[in-house]
Amino acid sequence: MSVADTLLSQLKAAEVRLALAGIETARLDAEILMAHVLGCPRMALYGKLTAAVPQQAVSEFDALLSRRLTCEPVAYITGEQEFWSLPFKVTPDTLIPRPDTETLVETVLRQMDGLPVRRVLDLGTGSGCILLSLLHELRDALGTAVDISAGALSVAKENAVSLDLQERVEFFQGSWFAPLDKQAQFDVIVSNPPYIPSKDMAGLMADVRLYEPGSALDGGEDGLGPYRLIADQAPAFLAPGGLLAVEVGIHQAGDVMALFDAAGLVGTGKVKDLGG
Ligand code: GLN
Repeated sequence: MSVADTLLSQLKAAEVRLALAGIETARLDAEILMAHVLGCPRMALYGKLTAAVPQQAVSEFDALLSRRLTCEPVAYITGEQEFWSLPFKVTPDTLIPRPDTETLVETVLRQMDGLPVRRVLDLGTGSGCILLSLLHELRDALGTAVDISAGALSVAKENAVSLDLQERVEFFQGSWFAPLDKQAQFDVIVSNPPYIPSKDMAGLMADVRLYEPGSALDGGEDGLGPYRLIADQAPAFLAPGGLLAVEVGIHQAGDVMALFDAAGLVGTGKVKDLGG
């Protein structure tokens, strides 16, 4: 066995290639892709750094690296992203769940602590990460997931099954509140809507711009369109004492709070996510 065949040397070489291509998370990405190829948890790599990597695995790893070198996100290459410490399937039909969005889940749980939560609505569910994480924690709650994308909804359904939550969720394809029963009432309404102003889409980093679904990101002219629609319609669907909680983009909190205030939603407040 030559030194070039060891796991450590493979990882180092991959790290250099990714870093030279301007990928900031080069080492982490190399490890995630290698762990995916070897079918082991990333941490298990550290127990076998001096072991040889079989030729077949080296070739597979090379193929995945080439994809990453085109800026394809790691999560689309492996088909999986962890969120709220749960494994979520993702495809190019879904946004990749972000750690920042865990703040939304956390905030809902904190606000509803000790209060009965029976019905939760997630608008633009994507992979289902927000709703399914909430249902995982709120054992008595039932969920409703809406997405306009059939592709995203089918991924969300798969995630519900793999997390054994399928009995507690109903799925609707359609635009925002449109597919819901007009009488439906929810204790919690959540959304991480598309909120990037259209003119800023071209400035997104290549990983996002080239690979993630534009419809999950583009919030229209000023990025606030989805919030206007939510402010307009959410009051009719909120049960008394219910909570509406949304993620917003940078510099949008004030505008969105004003929209919600104007819609008669009381007690509006904001929470900063990991990105501030
Ligand atoms: N709710 C999903 C998420 O937070 C999808 C959001 C979206 O597509 N805008 O990841």
